[in-house]
Amino acid sequence: MRPDELINAVKRYDKNADVEALRRAAVFAQKMHHDQWRETGEKYLIHPLAVAEILVEYKLDANGIMAALLHDTVEDTPASYESVKTLFGKEVADLVQGLTKLESYQLQSINTDQAENFQTLILASRKDVRILLVKLADRLHNMRTLGICSDSKKRRKGIETMEIYVPLAERLGLHQIKLELENLAFQNMNPSGYKNITERLKEMADKQQANIKAVTVQLEKILKENKIKGYITSRIKSPYGLWRKLQTHGNNLKSIFDVLGFRVVVEKRADCYRVLGAVHEIYKAVPGRLKDYISTPKDSGYQSLHTTVITPKGTLLEIQIRTEQMEEEAQFGIAAHWSYKQGTKYDGAHLPWMKEFLELMKQSKNATDFLNKAKLHMYEDKLFCFDEKGVLYSLPKGATALDFACYQGSKVALKCLGVIVNEEEQPLTHVLQDGDKVKFLLSDKIVADKSWLKMVTTAQGQSLLEGYFAENIEEKPLSLWQKLFAKKTKNREVLGVPADMPYELDTLCHPTSKDSIVGILENNKVVIHSRNCPELKNYLSQKNKWLSVEWNTAAVIKHLKKPVNLVIVWKTGPESMGNVVNALSKTKVKIESVEVVLQETKKTKANVNIRVRNKDHLLDALDAIRAAEKVVSVYQVKEEK
Ligand code: MN
Repeated sequence: MRPDELINAVKRYDKNADVEALRRAAVFAQKMHHDQWRETGEKYLIHPLAVAEILVEYKLDANGIMAALLHDTVEDTPASYESVKTLFGKEVADLVQGLTKLESYQLQSINTDQAENFQTLILASRKDVRILLVKLADRLHNMRTLGICSDSKKRRKGIETMEIYVPLAERLGLHQIKLELENLAFQNMNPSGYKNITERLKEMADKQQANIKAVTVQLEKILKENKIKGYITSRIKSPYGLWRKLQTHGNNLKSIFDVLGFRVVVEKRADCYRVLGAVHEIYKAVPGRLKDYISTPKDSGYQSLHTTVITPKGTLLEIQIRTEQMEEEAQFGIAAHWSYKQGTKYDGAHLPWMKEFLELMKQSKNATDFLNKAKLHMYEDKLFCFDEKGVLYSLPKGATALDFACYQGSKVALKCLGVIVNEEEQPLTHVLQDGDKVKFLLSDKIVADKSWLKMVTTAQGQSLLEGYFAENIEEKPLSLWQKLFAKKTKNREVLGVPADMPYELDTLCHPTSKDSIVGILENNKVVIHSRNCPELKNYLSQKNKWLSVEWNTAAVIKHLKKPVNLVIVWKTGPESMGNVVNALSKTKVKIESVEVVLQETKKTKANVNIRVRNKDHLLDALDAIRAAEKVVSVYQVKEEK
């Protein structure tokens, strides 16, 4: 954009704009930077003009645009705060000052430099949030034009952008800037991953074109038939967004719900719900995927309805429904609320996240400490850890060591005997911290145990383990019989301990029914430890002493009050009864008792009492018994009234 085009654009939305001053700012920038060139070989002036142009999109007021034009003058040219103040006034000069790095720090290391600048940026933005906006636009243009830098510089800039600027843009609700910064950062941090993903996306976009058209027509029809004014847009997930999802969904494109997205923008709030109803009439809704951010907005204030549906052809679509006002706020974030009256306050101090930052700053020892704390704070839902080769993984916060193993695939996850975190042995339930170096001790055979399901907190961990157990439900005969004769051991609070063996709860970790537990065999008794118990590490090398145990929760599981009485007839044989019990345990019914009432050479008849959750559960159980090998018949004995 040429300076005059830029000024005309500002004039259109900021009626108070001092056009003369804007013109002078452009000329001043040109004069100050006239003998400077960018690394790309272009005139330096290109840069401040581009930064200003980005901000015109967000309708930043004239003073803010002037600051954008002048943002590098005090830092890189003979211009001073005083001269800018004399020419353009205190407000503009203060903005430019806030965007100027502190020179005294330039002799220090890159890290300290970065930390000091970050702290300065936050302090300045507290007074005037426009500073942060110009800074983000500045970073965006620099990232767009990284082209000829060395690979290591690109990588460094990519990481810095991802760690600092992306979350800041997100907090300001600047959706487009955030998205573009994120993709540019990803591209520079991981060029081959980026290439791979963009190719897959392109392929998908080509394949889905007809589909996108058809869905758009369908949605337009809904609006027309219901006499609702509005419009439809569609999108394909961004490269970084897709990459991150693939990371957490085991590279399975089919399990990602929102690769194809549609947005219906209507006038009135009530219309949103009408459209939702109509959409669900045409497409089958995927259960659990409806989010009503209209009645319960996100922390950032974001409002919209989200639903995922499945087309008759089996394609998953994410559909967002919102009003124009919500759309504008989602697109422009903080900028959606600006007015151009004189004396408008742009202070950032009232923003909740800014308050949190200032609080963090108070608690920090120095700028570096603050930057580190802020980074962690901004990524509070994410966690970064390294595997033993030093490869960086990003996990949801709260992830355990076992979760991390699941992120490395089943070859690691199912064979974990123990874990070493930062040179120290820890239980698999150890909650990981940022920067942890994690190494797993692996067995050569699979040691995964069902109780592990309680030791993972991430979707990735859950699905890997559940997938494994779904295919490998082989109960050990011992625990099977224990379940069969639960009555015998009913007074025991722990299941899995051989019936003739005493057990006691460890006095160090005092496991409670909320803890996931493990038994350790010790001279004729079993000691029950919490999976978190630090003592466990003494047994890591003695796997033969470990016993899989669980709390006897039979009493707390909500089953129907009365047991169901079944009569089952099977062909007499050594494995027949086992087959029946196995089939029942797969459906997770609770077996109360098994009583053989008739045994002949050919057939055996038994009364079996089970507890189920509801009628569907009972029907599942009956189907499972019928399908079991050697079963002749099964029927339910109704209680006599
Ligand atoms: Mn700049």
